[in-house]
Amino acid sequence: MRNCLWCRDTIDRVSWGMFSIFEEEWKICEECKSKLAPISGEICLMCGRPLAKLNHDYIHEKKCLDCQKWKRKDQSNTFVHNRSFYEYNDFIKHILVRYKYRGDAEAGRAFNSVFVKKIRKSYKFIDGVIPIPLSNERLYERGFNQCEIWIEKESQTLKHCLVRTQHEEKQSKKSRAERINRSEQMFQVTNHSLISGKKLLVIDDLYTTGTTIHHAAHSLVSNGAKEVYSLTLCRG
Ligand SMILES: [Zn+2]
Ligand SMILES: [Zn+2]
Repeated sequence: MRNCLWCRDTIDRVSWGMFSIFEEEWKICEECKSKLAPISGEICLMCGRPLAKLNHDYIHEKKCLDCQKWKRKDQSNTFVHNRSFYEYNDFIKHILVRYKYRGDAEAGRAFNSVFVKKIRKSYKFIDGVIPIPLSNERLYERGFNQCEIWIEKESQTLKHCLVRTQHEEKQSKKSRAERINRSEQMFQVTNHSLISGKKLLVIDDLYTTGTTIHHAAHSLVSNGAKEVYSLTLCRG
């Protein structure tokens, strides 16, 4: 008998991923899986958000307004695009809270297979995968970096080449415009030779305004990376 990693209900049926090499994959019940909202349909070519939910006035050449602003700020074209698996809904928020703030690493491990499969299928051209680092303070509190766990089976993972420069102020206290216009440096590259000339994929849990990802990409590219892509669990 198995129990669902998320709701603890007994899983009595033979589930979809029974023969998967990823053990975590068949530890989620059908009901929990049905509460996830996979992103589908036409998406913003840059940030990966579903375009169907946006007003037409905010879309230009299949890019959303936020991305058009980012594009104007950063002309270097070195951040290529973000893709996300799921829309950020109450259910996934609840799973992430358990995972990140209550230390339930098993609840988060259920996503390992979606990340690794996607990386192996769609990002073969990538030279290195970088989990977005936590500040030392957060890492100490939490005991683990949730993004590192998702790619623990990925051999191209580059750890410790990017670090946070400061303890972040609570993003939620800031307005959307403030977050987009933030200009302070959030990250620092500590090992230039690891990233030099490489095409990199950055992993994070949530893309909302894109601030974290764009700051990371900017630091990586200005320290020698060739191109930066990102893959996040959710698109807020
Ligand atoms: Zn369940
Ligand atoms: Zn966009």
